[in-house]
Amino acid sequence: MGLRKIREIGEEVLRCTCKEVPEITPRVQDLIKDMFDTMYEANGVGLAAPQVGVRKRIFVVDTTGEDPHVFINPQILETSGEQTGQEGCLSVPGKSGIVTRPNYVKVKAQDENGEWFELEGEELLARAILHENDHLDGILYVDKVEGDLESYSYDDEDDEE
Ligand code: ZN
Repeated sequence: MGLRKIREIGEEVLRCTCKEVPEITPRVQDLIKDMFDTMYEANGVGLAAPQVGVRKRIFVVDTTGEDPHVFINPQILETSGEQTGQEGCLSVPGKSGIVTRPNYVKVKAQDENGEWFELEGEELLARAILHENDHLDGILYVDKVEGDLESYSYDDEDDEE
């Protein structure tokens, strides 16, 4: 199991525009495995490469614990609707806030073998995909939060993204 250090708000890597991944090398595949390990260990539902200090357009999402998805070079094809809800981020520990996002997303990306796929998501899955995709352009949910960030107790960590 390969755990990587989760970078926290204030670190420059979280504000960079990440680079396309031209080739899915064994090194990239190792990174993806480590990202899943790191996300599950932290009880997150998503993790983007810059959150572990890597400036590449890669994120992983698993909103149920049994539905892992890898997104390499993702492109958001379509969004619709609206949802307003609580959001957190592993890079902003101990905080959460209210963010409005589309309720539906259609995304195209490559998987860990380089195969292109399309995926549609609603509600939490859409929120997680859009949150992680923002990380690839240096955007954090705190940029979009409505009102103040709230502190929460460690009991509520399950929904962090
Ligand atoms: Zn995040």
